[in-house]
Amino acid sequence: MAIRVTVWNEFRHEQENPVVTGIYPEGIHGTIAQALTARGAFDVRTATLDEPDHGLTPDVLANTDVLIWWGHKAHRDVRDEIVDRVQQRILDGMGLVVLHSGHHSKIFRRMMGTTANLKWREANDKERLWVVQPGHPIVEGIGEYIEIDEEEMYGEHFDIPQPDELIFVSWFTGGEVFRSGCCYFRGRGKIFYFRPGHETYPTYHNKDVLLVIGNGALWAAPVNGPVPDYGIGKWNQPLEPLPAKAKQFVSSETTSAEPG
Ligand code: ZN
Repeated sequence: MAIRVTVWNEFRHEQENPVVTGIYPEGIHGTIAQALTARGAFDVRTATLDEPDHGLTPDVLANTDVLIWWGHKAHRDVRDEIVDRVQQRILDGMGLVVLHSGHHSKIFRRMMGTTANLKWREANDKERLWVVQPGHPIVEGIGEYIEIDEEEMYGEHFDIPQPDELIFVSWFTGGEVFRSGCCYFRGRGKIFYFRPGHETYPTYHNKDVLLVIGNGALWAAPVNGPVPDYGIGKWNQPLEPLPAKAKQFVSSETTSAEPG
């Protein structure tokens, strides 16, 4: 079955800045959605900030396996109740692919628990993203590095938790480095942060960048794993008989309805 992907975009720069409109006439979401659709593995829809519920109704999220997120100047306009809703879906298994300036989105900061601050410069740096985990499914089909002739610089320190899997490290002309492809497991869900994609550069027309975004969506897709049952009292009865002493201990501790 095709993986159901929702490409979410703030969609403000494309409507306000003619340079960005020129690069992405269909919006960043439209360009990414088109590339993912062409790949044939995904059932793709888009959603944007100014739609009701930012396009992320309970029904849309219930029918989304992987949510892709691009935002920049309007992070604060995303309503907290929608962030709560997205977070719950991730913990229940939905994948999240966060792109570029989405590092400061409410949902990414929520899932990281840190500021996600970083250093930055808009000065036409060249970026070279080195693959540091060559066996990972996210780098399937690309070479040892991806080169982008002009991009915004993001530099360390990047205030994130240590990634569960680090996939790319970027080098920039100015001498900075950056952890530019980071994987996390949260609850039953997975999160992939991928750095490139400043709106005034044609980064989402780069075939390697698009390939990695698609690979990220494949990796982040839910798996048919167990749903842990944390039910109150559910584990009062051990799976194996306990030694007599421990049995006594358990029986005196099982009267509380609260988790231990
Ligand atoms: Zn940017």
